[in-house]
Amino acid sequence: MSDYSTQQLMEKDKAHFTHPWTVFDVYKHEGALPIGRAEGCYIYDTDNNRYLDAVGGLWCNNIGTGREEMADAIAEQVRLMSYSSPFVDLTNVPATLLAEKLASLAPGDLDHVFYSCGGSTAVDTAFRLIHYYQNCRGKHDKKHIISRKSSYHGSTFAAMSIGGKAGDHPPEFDYLSDTIHHVSAPKFYGDSSGKTEAEFLDALIQELEDKIIELGGEDSVAAFFAEPILGAGGVIVPPQGYHQRTWELCQKYDILYVSDEVVTAFGRLGHWFASADEFNIQPDIITCAKGLTSGYQPLGATIYSDKIHQVISEEGHGRCFAHGFTYSGHPVACAAALKNIEIMERENLAGNVSELAPYFKERLESLLDLPIVGDVRGRGFMWCVEFVANKDNYELFPEELDIGKRISNLADGKGLIVRPIVHLNVMSPPLNLTREDIDFIVDTLRSSIEEVVAELNSEGYQL
Ligand code: PLP
Repeated sequence: MSDYSTQQLMEKDKAHFTHPWTVFDVYKHEGALPIGRAEGCYIYDTDNNRYLDAVGGLWCNNIGTGREEMADAIAEQVRLMSYSSPFVDLTNVPATLLAEKLASLAPGDLDHVFYSCGGSTAVDTAFRLIHYYQNCRGKHDKKHIISRKSSYHGSTFAAMSIGGKAGDHPPEFDYLSDTIHHVSAPKFYGDSSGKTEAEFLDALIQELEDKIIELGGEDSVAAFFAEPILGAGGVIVPPQGYHQRTWELCQKYDILYVSDEVVTAFGRLGHWFASADEFNIQPDIITCAKGLTSGYQPLGATIYSDKIHQVISEEGHGRCFAHGFTYSGHPVACAAALKNIEIMERENLAGNVSELAPYFKERLESLLDLPIVGDVRGRGFMWCVEFVANKDNYELFPEELDIGKRISNLADGKGLIVRPIVHLNVMSPPLNLTREDIDFIVDTLRSSIEEVVAELNSEGYQL
């Protein structure tokens, strides 16, 4: 696998690889575990220990890793033509066919595709497209963007500014703040201040409308960005009716609705796209990446409406859409996406999600009898377990206890990878997961949580 020992690899890594979201103080001591190979739902470290990867890479490994036909499709395209320029006067066959396929899968009149290198650049493209569209319409003051606290939209300057996770905005970085605004996350558990779900929803909608009006309403607000289910912010499933009511407000004030489906598309919630099929709304723009290629190649897409296209492409203005990347519509990435979609269709992976999601939910909810499991939430194959010190008042454990990591570290040792995010363990496994895999995930989580509860009690907690 490698000429180097795991220890040597970790030392080289620490010396030279600056990872996304490195907490330097911790990384200097702990380093990162080198993963050497992967197969289906499993990843293997360089000492050949096997783990069920219930995170699906990073919400992206939808069809499972190591598929021969993916390797063949990618190799074939590399042999045929590894690259050609996408700039205006040239195109390539996989990019053309994938754009047509995405237009057919996306809801309503979302018929136009702009390719990028991943989710962040898909969001950044949406951001620039919004400016372009509003300016083309002569709406030069329509510049404000509204998104939600706890949202994650990627890591370019614009995407990170649109995101609203407090932990992602450390003071050492700068952000765009004059035209980007955040309203409350639709998180009912722990954040509803004693309201019923209906009252909580009304308050969220009122807050959004107040914010639109405060910013100048129809004349000033250009777009609203929302993940159908907030992912990295804690798998927040909004109250029933939230999406429809926020979408209606966008209609009322002529605001573009951007559905960031980087995680929720390509079967994760049992549909190609969740906006219309799961939440009954028709966005103006959908951003996607991750499951588009199941992580076999980096690729993002910004899929936008006929309405926008008609305005920006109107003839006679001499306009140029001065935006794009060397790798927009990369032929190898697009060939991988086409094969990935073909596999998903043939194996009905979205159907597997719909069929097993109730079982996944039921099994995860069985963890609620444990003293520190406050909430279990999600849909499809997108779930999280939230840990609390006190179920009655939702009190969280102190951050330095790192409860999510403490539990996931134990799970690692038992051959299960879940993603710790502060006081959460998050899961987004490959879509071909079986009942047995779900049993393994939940049983391993249970024993890991029980061990941590026992440790905490011996440290003075009374759980
Ligand atoms: N949008 C959402 C909803 C995401 O979850 C992510 C990544 O997790 C992104 C955008 C950014 O995608 P990428 O990391 O591919 O740039």
